[in-house]
Amino acid sequence: MDIIDIKDWGLGLSEHVLIAGPCSAESPQQIETIAKGLKGSPVELFRAGIWKPRTRPGSFEGVGSEALEWLDAAKEILNVPVTVEVAKTKHVEAALKAGVEVLWIGARTTVNPFSVQEICEALKGVDIPVMVKNPINPDLQLWLGAFERLNKVGINKVAGIHRGFSDPYEKRYRNKPEWSMPIHLKRMVPGLSVICDPSHICGTREIIGAVSQRAINFGLDGLMIETHHDPDNAWSDAKQQITPDMLKIIYDSLIFRENVDEHPEMLTEIDKYRHKIDLLDSQILELFSERFKVIEQVGEYKREHNLAVYQPSRWQEVMDSRIKEGIKKNMTEKFMKSLLFAIHEESVKKQEAQLKEMRPMANL
Ligand code: PEP
Ligand code: MN
Repeated sequence: MDIIDIKDWGLGLSEHVLIAGPCSAESPQQIETIAKGLKGSPVELFRAGIWKPRTRPGSFEGVGSEALEWLDAAKEILNVPVTVEVAKTKHVEAALKAGVEVLWIGARTTVNPFSVQEICEALKGVDIPVMVKNPINPDLQLWLGAFERLNKVGINKVAGIHRGFSDPYEKRYRNKPEWSMPIHLKRMVPGLSVICDPSHICGTREIIGAVSQRAINFGLDGLMIETHHDPDNAWSDAKQQITPDMLKIIYDSLIFRENVDEHPEMLTEIDKYRHKIDLLDSQILELFSERFKVIEQVGEYKREHNLAVYQPSRWQEVMDSRIKEGIKKNMTEKFMKSLLFAIHEESVKKQEAQLKEMRPMANL
């Protein structure tokens, strides 16, 4: 895929981009007050929802196109570009006409390839950056698909936004973060920046600082934080919005992590540890290979004596004893279980393949 890094979008955005602004634009005064409040903060891109995708009808669904011109005040006060959410052709056309610099596709739109395609058609031949939020369900292919569709119509200034995933059993978060997802996405699309939206992950303002720090620790490339001068009275997402002053406090407390590749002096030091890890990994693999050889010997024995590949009592015993031992050695139960399941799956596959091997008629 052809990707242009956020730093090269020509909008003066940095490698730790901070996006702030209200969930929804409510009035010209509200936009102005928030922008003034954000003055002196490191905000680089101002956000505001103009068309709001609400779960049920009857809630505030955004002011609509008329709010687009209110954003000029934010641009002027803060001297930064602005971004709005688009979900259909009409939105794209209005946003482009109003000179919005960056568009974003919301989580409820990313899930629907028809809508993503519609946005892409409307963007054919236009050079504008587009940020894509993860779909509400944890489907990496769907998220990836949106970038591919954008790329096909020539949009290469793209970035992802991790805003968590809907999970009916989750109590702590409004949308549960799945940190491995943006990391996978970044690996699959080299050069792609993924920003974190802690506001929609948290759902309540109290944990926004902690989640922002986690996002940075995981190597995400920036933050989009909903900011309102009077959060409790915001027309949408009141509980999760923070004041501009709060944003400054949170931002100042964040510790930014750097990529070691940019620090040759640290690289030599860290390479010593990496070398140790390489050796240990190769020993682990050697042991695995030995283990699988024994598994094949057992498989041969099972085949000769017509024994089933899967022996539940033995498997239970292996699980129980190894998990216990693993926990004693400072590993979590979750890790031990997934490791043992992976080993078991591979072992069963190998023995099953042995059973399928051609056998002389006399043995049948
Ligand atoms: C928003 O950013 O206000 C929004 C609607 O977010 P999401 O698409 O993540 O639900
Ligand atoms: Mn919101």
